[in-house]
Amino acid sequence: MKRLLSYLAVYALSLAVFIAPAHAEKLKVVASFSVLGDMVQQVTGDHASVTTIVGPDADAHVYTPNAEDARAVTQANVIFVNGLGFETWSKTLIETSGTKAKVFVATKGITPLKVDGEIDPHAWNALPNGVIYIRNIAKAMGEVDPKNAKTYQANATAYIAKLEKLHKSTIAQLSALPKDNRTIVTAHDAFGYLANAYQLKFLAPVGIDTEAEPSAQQLAKLIDQLKREKVAGLFVENITSPALVEQISKETGLKIGGRLFSDALSVKGGPATSYLTMFEHNLGVIVKALSVQS
Ligand SMILES: [Zn+2]
Repeated sequence: MKRLLSYLAVYALSLAVFIAPAHAEKLKVVASFSVLGDMVQQVTGDHASVTTIVGPDADAHVYTPNAEDARAVTQANVIFVNGLGFETWSKTLIETSGTKAKVFVATKGITPLKVDGEIDPHAWNALPNGVIYIRNIAKAMGEVDPKNAKTYQANATAYIAKLEKLHKSTIAQLSALPKDNRTIVTAHDAFGYLANAYQLKFLAPVGIDTEAEPSAQQLAKLIDQLKREKVAGLFVENITSPALVEQISKETGLKIGGRLFSDALSVKGGPATSYLTMFEHNLGVIVKALSVQS
């Protein structure tokens, strides 16, 4: 009997060892918008399943969460938000969901830019800030899931090396271009951090938040300014209606030079399905516009 029991114990133990990995569920991580979702995925690799609330080509400024979002938040182990006032809907969503997830702000430690007294939330549009996002994500994941902390750190280090390489290449490409041809017009003011990091100038009819449309007077003032200033490029964005930019094009004679991805990635098959390719796409479009001598 004793022998039988010990056989059974060994059998049970081996069965448990055999079964355990299949039962080890992946951590459920929620990211508030697509750019952040990709960053989180880069750090977590296979160790988490990442759900993004505001998907590709969608506007996180004016998003209304649905039942599926609420369910994802409720079931999450970890939640990442951008912060800096970007996702105005996230606080209510998280508080009403009853989630036990730890919530992390990916922009922690970033020096915020201010536009007309308001904090500009689009910090990811400068690569040195992207590095801070990645460091914050790796640190947060290490806290929540210490047994994989080394993997998160290693993934972050490898990814940061790519971001730093692209940052250097961006500086080299942009500094080679004429200094007097650096004004770009977009639909909303999403590229302040890019302008600040790489000495560009962006003008937009809509401010840092897509909620408010410009008044006819504000638009007329901008169009006047554009007629006087040398403008290198006029661009539509993936998350906003092209109508305002088309009107500006009609009234100023400036041609629309393409599309910039400001606050969201492209859908699969598009030119900006990750943070890195989004930045590369935008850089390519901008460099092309700034290279044309008028
Ligand atoms: Zn925006």
